[in-house]
Amino acid sequence: MAVKRVYTFGNGQAEGKADMKNLLGGKGANLAEMNLIGVPVPPGFTITTDVCIEYNDIGKDAVVDLLKSDVEAAIKNIEALTETSFGDKTNPLLVSVRSGARASMPGMMDTVLNLGLNDDSVAGIAIKSGNERFAWDSYRRFVQMYGDVVLGMKPESKEEIDPFERIMEEVKEQRGVDLDTDLEVEDLKELVKLFKAAVKEQTGHGFPESAWEQLWGAIMAVFDSWNNDRAILYRRMESIPDEWGTAVNVQAMVYGNMGDNSATGVAFTRDAGTGENVFNGEYLINAQGEDVVAGIRTPQQITKEGSLRWAELQGVLEEDRAMMYPSLEEAMPVVYGELNAVQDKLEKHYKDMQDLEFTVQDGKLWLLQTRNGKRTGAAMVKIAMDLYREKVIDDKLALMRVEPNKLDELLHPVFDMDAIGSANELAKGLPASPGAASGQIIFFADEANKYPDTILVRIETSPEDLEGMLVAKGILTARGGMTSHAAVVARGMGKCCVSGAGALKIDYKERVLRIGGNIYKEGDWISLNGSTGKVYDGRVKTRQPDLDGDFASIMDFSAKYTRMNVRTNADTPKDAKTAREFGAEGIGLCRTEHMFFEGERIKTVREMILSSDEKGRRAALDKLLPFQREDFEGILEAMKGYAVTIRLLDPPLHEFVPHTEAAQQEMAKEMGISLAEVKTKVSDLSEFNPMLGHRGCRLGNTYPEITEMQARAIIEAALNLKAKGITTVPEIMVPLIGTVEELKMQSDIIHQTAEIIFAERGDKVEYMVGTMIEIPRAALTADKVAEVAEFFSFGTNDLTQMAFGYSRDDANKFLPIYLEKGILKHDPFQVLDQTGVGQLVEMGTQRGRSTKPDLKVGICGEHGGEPSSVEFCDSVGMNYVSCSPFRVPIARVAAAQANIKKNG
Ligand code: PEP
Ligand code: MG
Repeated sequence: MAVKRVYTFGNGQAEGKADMKNLLGGKGANLAEMNLIGVPVPPGFTITTDVCIEYNDIGKDAVVDLLKSDVEAAIKNIEALTETSFGDKTNPLLVSVRSGARASMPGMMDTVLNLGLNDDSVAGIAIKSGNERFAWDSYRRFVQMYGDVVLGMKPESKEEIDPFERIMEEVKEQRGVDLDTDLEVEDLKELVKLFKAAVKEQTGHGFPESAWEQLWGAIMAVFDSWNNDRAILYRRMESIPDEWGTAVNVQAMVYGNMGDNSATGVAFTRDAGTGENVFNGEYLINAQGEDVVAGIRTPQQITKEGSLRWAELQGVLEEDRAMMYPSLEEAMPVVYGELNAVQDKLEKHYKDMQDLEFTVQDGKLWLLQTRNGKRTGAAMVKIAMDLYREKVIDDKLALMRVEPNKLDELLHPVFDMDAIGSANELAKGLPASPGAASGQIIFFADEANKYPDTILVRIETSPEDLEGMLVAKGILTARGGMTSHAAVVARGMGKCCVSGAGALKIDYKERVLRIGGNIYKEGDWISLNGSTGKVYDGRVKTRQPDLDGDFASIMDFSAKYTRMNVRTNADTPKDAKTAREFGAEGIGLCRTEHMFFEGERIKTVREMILSSDEKGRRAALDKLLPFQREDFEGILEAMKGYAVTIRLLDPPLHEFVPHTEAAQQEMAKEMGISLAEVKTKVSDLSEFNPMLGHRGCRLGNTYPEITEMQARAIIEAALNLKAKGITTVPEIMVPLIGTVEELKMQSDIIHQTAEIIFAERGDKVEYMVGTMIEIPRAALTADKVAEVAEFFSFGTNDLTQMAFGYSRDDANKFLPIYLEKGILKHDPFQVLDQTGVGQLVEMGTQRGRSTKPDLKVGICGEHGGEPSSVEFCDSVGMNYVSCSPFRVPIARVAAAQANIKKNG
């Protein structure tokens, strides 16, 4: 069967539907679906995402050949439904050409509006609309947009000015007007002429007059925009594969700028910031869609209730609000009634919060888009739980609606109540994206990492600012509403944002911010509360958030549906306690060496390392024993009732030695040896490749007394707790083994030590001895290793290092470049490489269990808290994943989702 590349929709019919997102993109699939459920949508067609991939392979001409007849037929279909004719002088069809990928990428790719206008058809539109100004305003917008997007006239650097903006400013100055809307028809005609001359001058070609030439140019430009820098960066951020491609949606234009009976807006069926179940959004009368999100005019609220809340936040008096900024509900009650019914219908249909775009043309409502709305972490949890309580979705679906990584936002600090009470409030804007942020002011996105904590302060943001927005701790804008670029993007990122703080006067040139009589320079500290819209002077103290009922319910659902357990990596009783509060069921990795740095202990550790013989080492180890025993008691007690895996000493010893002369001098004095002797010892310990050197079990096998001391500390801690009535089962873990013999030698030392202690005490405890699998050879010989090991824990940090041959300590020199060039899709130290390293994990698990069918297997590398890696761990049948305390909730949800995906 011939490949279908073009799908039409219109007038209640559509060739596509909602579940065809992969092929039609989110926008295209939903435009089709809206038609099918009777929502008014301007007719159009979608060119599939597959064509974008074909275009990248075979180029423009070949793709046009493939598409030509289908696109011509689809345009005919729109002509028939709208009773217009594409390229016609008197009754022209005008279309929009928009991108639409499988996953929403707001503002990242290109759009062209008003396509089909030329020197002839502009007159036709003027007659048809009865509004010459509208026709010429549309035409000048089209030439400008087409010039920027399709003909590549948009400046690439922030210093350059868009040539069309410059011309516009010049014309406004000549005419002595401030606003675009003050320009007369003759001025607009002049603008079109000047714009076209600029096109000719810069590109060497005249502006295309043929509607068909315009259309093919715009379609290809949208395909090209899949690979612009912004889109690529956004894909990296959101882990969207490059191979997906974008669809192109061509749709009959409808106009929100046809006069005062027209409008355009954006709405959400629930609050995307808090999750509250209130219909909300913004609109502008007599405007085109881009005007609402661009933050140039102050948008008005959709509902009266929203408008009253907005006015209160902005300090706008009721008379002014009602006169100058009435809600859609007040200004166009009939249209509002229709929109309200549509939003209700769409939310019920999709069973999720929707983000809508609409236009009212001469009193008639049209929907241009619906999609599942982006939301903050807090809103995500609340909406999922509200829909569950409303019986729209069940508990499994509520759980599946949680994006595990987004939970991170809920675990972050909020302002301390006392500190905020005494903080000096500077200004108030809109609560665009919740959370608390303190940072130093910067004014340019590309300088966002100038200080460790920055607040990006802009008049408004644009997609070019994306990278800086990601780096900054918070975003503050002087203009723009709740649907401005800053607000939408910040919510997607879970970043604190206050938008539209009108009292801010920003001077980019001077790099100063004026608020009332105060002047803030770049580098000055301010604080933002994205939940109230308030801006404060200086740095305000934060505190940990309360994890409320909805969060707890999601955690309960996770517990209900998970197969794997989630443990934590914790080295102190405090971390263990935090992780328990987040629901960790045990410790998967306690890195004992982290306890070596505390207080005076490091001196004793150094004494052990610098000793020249076993006697000296044993003397130092005797001093360390009580400290270690006490630490283990603390941790085992904090995790009582749950397993605790304690790893024996792992890092190369040189990490502990004194490197400065002063510290070496101090050690010399402490140990009664010369400085020269200390220096020689330090240099003896230095290795060319310490990560592959004298570390892990190699330490315990060359200095068995270290293992003896650590085993003693663990067993004695367990016995001491047993004496207090607390039962524990410590799991003693041997690091970095490559052969079973290495493990056997360590395991023998541990067992012998335990037997000695049991005899000394006349009492016993249960314990296990297992190993980390972090050297490829250990995974390959896992059947042998399992003859000795009582459990396995995959150390995927080292396993990744050794499987890829990338040094963990040096990889940041080339990994960012590899990611940028697409050599790697993800940083393999963050996201488990399932294709390569994953084979070692799967094989290691299977081979281990071929020897011991009940072998307990877990993971304790960083990947244990990364959702896609957690899913992989579930698929290979691991018993548990272990991750840092703050990732425990994320791993719990990811583990439960993995099980639901597999077993339904
Ligand atoms: C690992 O290698 O995955 C691991 C957990 O150990 P470390 O990071 O301490 O080397
Ligand atoms: Mg390791």
